[in-house]
Amino acid sequence: QPVVVVCVGMAGAGKSTFMHRITSHLHATKEPPYVMNLDPAITYSPYQSNIDIRDSVNYKKVMEEYNLGPNGGIMTSLNLFTTKVDQVIGLLEKRAAPDPENPNRKPVKHILVDTPGQIEAFVWSASGSILLDSLASSFPTVIAYVIDTPRASSTSTFMSNMLYACSILYKTKLPMIIVFNKTDVKDAEFAREWMTDFEAFQAALENDQSNNAFGGEEGSGHGSGYMGSLLNSMSLMLEEFYRHLSMVGVSATQGTGIDDFFEAVKEKADEFRRDYQPELDRKR
Ligand code: GDP
Repeated sequence: QPVVVVCVGMAGAGKSTFMHRITSHLHATKEPPYVMNLDPAITYSPYQSNIDIRDSVNYKKVMEEYNLGPNGGIMTSLNLFTTKVDQVIGLLEKRAAPDPENPNRKPVKHILVDTPGQIEAFVWSASGSILLDSLASSFPTVIAYVIDTPRASSTSTFMSNMLYACSILYKTKLPMIIVFNKTDVKDAEFAREWMTDFEAFQAALENDQSNNAFGGEEGSGHGSGYMGSLLNSMSLMLEEFYRHLSMVGVSATQGTGIDDFFEAVKEKADEFRRDYQPELDRKR
């Protein structure tokens, strides 16, 4: 049975570049993925999709016709696409099974899904939930959350990113891999350290605090005053959250860390079968 990998990430995190990278990696290893694009608003895609939301809905027309702004346009396009979810799952299931008429065609092992850069339009919308639930009730499904590492390297931006990841995890209730991208610019070792060693993160906070004592206004630093104690308590809560995550450092442009990523996908798919599947079956 194939694994569904749903890529989410804020605009600019490098999600498209990462999708392109993992797609070509799978082609190179002779295990071509089945690719689905759910972002109606992209004008150029560096990789080929097998199913593309843009083939069935015209985002610009939707905006015009319903008099919507960009976000409303994305949500409405997703809604329109979601009315065809049964057909989509049907296609995926067909591709996941051996074809009796074409014995040379291997069943796919990976279904890769790209989502809108406006994460909330997907994760927090009714149609996003329907799409994710439909996928997860047919296949092991994991979320890959792509993060711009250089932009997540201060204690406060790191924490905000992790809280966001946490909210996606609890909303989707699916296993998650945090993909620290752009490691050619900034190594992700600091993140691994902060995620595994609470004291290291506290030390970084304290460091921010003492730096702040020599410059800037009081209370403006990340480690100072109420922000410092808030970050402190949140990192305790996040420690529990981190235990359920896999993290990998990659460079989508250089192609490093991609093997680690697929290793994590395998691990999370096993976790899905072990912990999530029984729960889904019970609800049905
Ligand atoms: P998206 O909006 O998340 O789909 O982001 P894109 O894939 O369009 O990438 C945004 C920008 O980040 C582009 O200028 C990319 O060239 C750049 N980028 C993406 N991945 C990497 C990476 O691994 N390293 C570096 N240095 N830049 C990257």
